[in-house]
Parts: sequence; structure tokens; C-alpha cells
Amino acid sequence: MKKEFYAIAIDGPSGAGKSTMAKILAANLKITYLDTGAMYRAAAVYATKQGIDVNDRVNVIKLLDTLDIGISYEDGHQTVSLNGEDVSLTIREPWVSMKASDISKIPEVRTKLVDLQRKIAAGKNVVMDGRDIATCVLPDAQVKIFLTASAEARAQRRHAELLEKGNNISYQEVYEDIIRRDENDMNRAVSPLRQAEDAILLDTSDLNIEQSVMAIEEIVKQRGVL
Ligand code: C5P
Repeated sequence: MKKEFYAIAIDGPSGAGKSTMAKILAANLKITYLDTGAMYRAAAVYATKQGIDVNDRVNVIKLLDTLDIGISYEDGHQTVSLNGEDVSLTIREPWVSMKASDISKIPEVRTKLVDLQRKIAAGKNVVMDGRDIATCVLPDAQVKIFLTASAEARAQRRHAELLEKGNNISYQEVYEDIIRRDENDMNRAVSPLRQAEDAILLDTSDLNIEQSVMAIEEIVKQRGVL
């Protein structure tokens, strides 16, 4: 029997194009998009603003009760709020990436954010992107895609994106950040980045955005959820 609602899980390493793909897919299918990386980024910004090191587990845990993250969409534009304050731009600053990766290793942080992600996904059709969506957050998702690309292709894309936003950062810095984050995300104890057994692998190294979207929509159709 077909379920009432469906979920599309897109996981993969940094810069594979998950959020670009998920946003386009959500717009085409008219369903909710949830960017779970934005939540870990907001948590990292919160701890840092409170003067707490993101690796200081004991003190990060103490902050969790007062951490309130909100995500909303209007006309394809995402707004991320942190205790009522709009942090949509701050969370994209390069210094936040590695801190988000570090804070995401703390199991209590994951528990709180995964809970919030499941609440947002409940009772609607969603496409969610992250590192552990298929393996942990939504293990029953009807469509599971593991999106990847070579480290060079990912660094080039991320670099172009950051330059466009006015961040004057070198390609080498972006490349090293991607490699370090891959290491961190794949080797953490809780919910490490890995392809779920029933996920479909899609390598976008040689695909442009349009080709990648077509490939994903084909997978979605094949899974018969539409
Ligand atoms: O996707 P994005 O690069 O914005 O995510 C920032 C960091 O948040 C990642 O490097 C990863 O460590 C963490 N993250 C996670 N689980 C998710 C999404 C992101 O651990 N579902």
C-alpha cells in the first residue's frame, strides 16, 4: 500500500550539491525542503556567540535547553533563526563550517536536532538533505540518494559559491576545509556519514546542475512515489 506521505533523503559529503538539488526538487515537486546542515551551523554559531568551544561537550550540552532553531521558506528563500534572530547569512560564513562539523559530533546535539527534523517532516511530503538522513533521521524514506562528487569538483563549486557571495577565500583553503570535514564527518562515533545500504549512489563530478536534477528526478520516478 502506498504511504500517504513520502520523504526523499539526500545525503553526501560537503559540496556535493545536496542543497542545490534538494531545493530544485522541492520547488518542482511542491514539497517541503529541510536543510539539516543549517541547523548544525546555527548550533555552532550559538555556542560560539556564548563563548563556548564547540568541542566542550559538557558546556555545549548545558546550552541545549536554550537553543531554539527555526527554519522557514518563502519563495524558495530560506530563513534560519536562532532564538528569534535571523542568522541566515552568518551560518554561511566559512568559519562556521568546521565548527558545525565539530559540534555535530556531540550525541546530545544530534538527538535534539534529529528530533526537530523528524517533527518538521511529520505529516508532509519532504526532501531533506544532510549526512545521516537515510541512515538515522528518516530510515523509512521512500527515496534515498547518496550524492557525491570528487573532492576537486566539490571544492571548485563551493569556492565559486563563496566568491559569488563576496567571501574572499582561496581555492586551497576551501579544498582543505572540504577534506577535513569529510574526515570529521565520516569518522565520528555517532551517525557518521555513510551511504545507506538501500541508497542509490549518484556521482555528479561530470554532471551540471540540470543533468543532476534530471538524474535525481529519474530515481524519484523509478521509486514510484509520485
Ligand atoms: O551541509 P552543511 O555543510 O551545511 O553541514 C554542516 C555540517 O553539519 C557538516 O559538515 C556535518 O558535520 C554536519 N551535519 C551533520 N548531519 C546532518 C547535516 C549536517 O552532521 N544531517
